[in-house]
Amino acid sequence: MMKEKIGVFGGTFHPVHNGHLMLARHAAEALGIDRVLFVIDRIPPHKTLAEGADDAERLAILRLAVSEDPRFQVETMELERAGKSYSVDTLRELKQRYPDSELYFFMGSDMLNSFTTWRSPDEISKLATLVCTVRGGQSGGEEETAALLKEQYGTEVVLLEEVSSLSSTIVRNRIHEALPITDMLPANAAHYIYLHGCYQPAEIRSYYDRLQKELKPQRMEHTAYVLETAIALAARFGADASKARIAALLHDCAKYLPEQTLLSYADTEPPILSILHAAAGADYAKTAYGVNDPEILRAIRLHTTGDAGMTKLDKIIYLADMIEPSRSFEGVEQIRNAKTLDEMMRLALLRSIWYIKERNNPIHPATLRALNEIGGKMERFGESDALAICKVLYDKKAFDILALHIGDRTIIADWFVVASGTSVTHVRALCDDLEEKAQEIGLEIKRKEGYEDARWIVLDFGFALVHLFHPEERAYYNIERLWEGDDNMIRYPISE
Ligand code: FE
Ligand code: FE
Repeated sequence: MMKEKIGVFGGTFHPVHNGHLMLARHAAEALGIDRVLFVIDRIPPHKTLAEGADDAERLAILRLAVSEDPRFQVETMELERAGKSYSVDTLRELKQRYPDSELYFFMGSDMLNSFTTWRSPDEISKLATLVCTVRGGQSGGEEETAALLKEQYGTEVVLLEEVSSLSSTIVRNRIHEALPITDMLPANAAHYIYLHGCYQPAEIRSYYDRLQKELKPQRMEHTAYVLETAIALAARFGADASKARIAALLHDCAKYLPEQTLLSYADTEPPILSILHAAAGADYAKTAYGVNDPEILRAIRLHTTGDAGMTKLDKIIYLADMIEPSRSFEGVEQIRNAKTLDEMMRLALLRSIWYIKERNNPIHPATLRALNEIGGKMERFGESDALAICKVLYDKKAFDILALHIGDRTIIADWFVVASGTSVTHVRALCDDLEEKAQEIGLEIKRKEGYEDARWIVLDFGFALVHLFHPEERAYYNIERLWEGDDNMIRYPISE
């Protein structure tokens, strides 16, 4: 039977990063290692606090990061051991626990070069094969050292080329500076870091302490996601990352203030309770958290409504709140992938108006101001979708096709699309075709009526009601006359 090969990867993992994981994977594949134990070292307590994560946090981050590979496992014996740990103690203990396995002990080349000064190098040599990573192209005499150790202690050494130059120091510094760490850590580990405020400056950690008391756990999760997203957007669009960090962290800080307090910020009649925590939050960030920067406070204040004249920071917070990774509404990918900040804002505002309208809620004037500013020539809401429906009908030889914008006058829909077929069979075929093509044009039919008789079929698309008529019914009901206004009717096809 083949002996199990176990990699022993010691380190402080402060924090673990993709360089560690790549190395473990690379070594496992190159040497046929069956599992890798990540042996997490102790750090003197005074040092851990100063550097921004305690043992429990470091360990939690490591556990999350290794969870993606079934060969990886976390080993805590050095954390639990009282006093300083020596590698020989750890290897001895592992050998006792896994007597029939071969141990491979991972190290960097600096460690290899000082190997003779370690406690019991001869015993280590008997317990394990050393696996040393060498920086590509820059040999620091590792081969000579390996040959020497073999002669002196019988040490087996395998040299592997280093696969990543990432370091924990780089990761810590980036978190400290509010720079993104995307692709440096697995997403779940990075999320933990942002959820708990690890490696953040002291001022930011103090905000976390208070937030963790004031927000419900799921609101804290959302806040961490908004923070990650805001940091990424700030880096992408060149905004002040430190301000984005504070605004993102505190954007929902007033979420759980008493309703009476929130209502005192109302500026519409009737009040829109769901958005008031933004205005209240700007005040609360100032009075309770001591934030005085007017740009940060303004971004918090505008995060639910938007407004005309938004700054880069305002837009980033508004967007981060809407597109953070746990959001999954239809169209969210489109917003995330838009090329410019303004295009992202345009899509986000449209989506927000859509959402409010679908629930028949009032739209805050600031949201309308934001929308107006974005496009004097912005299409009426849903216009291109209404025209896409017209086109499907036109291609199927429907006639007298109209799109009527009715959103100003009723809440039943924003659009009527009206069209006729030559016969009952044709009307039904128009309906079938629309149902078939709906998905293609990105729309969904919520309800269908009148299909049996096929003299007046109504298809409900949510934002639009489509009326398919037999010519006799069309003439009799003449619904366009009821709804026609100054400038709300588009005949299809559109003539120049
Ligand atoms: Fe909010
Ligand atoms: Fe939020």
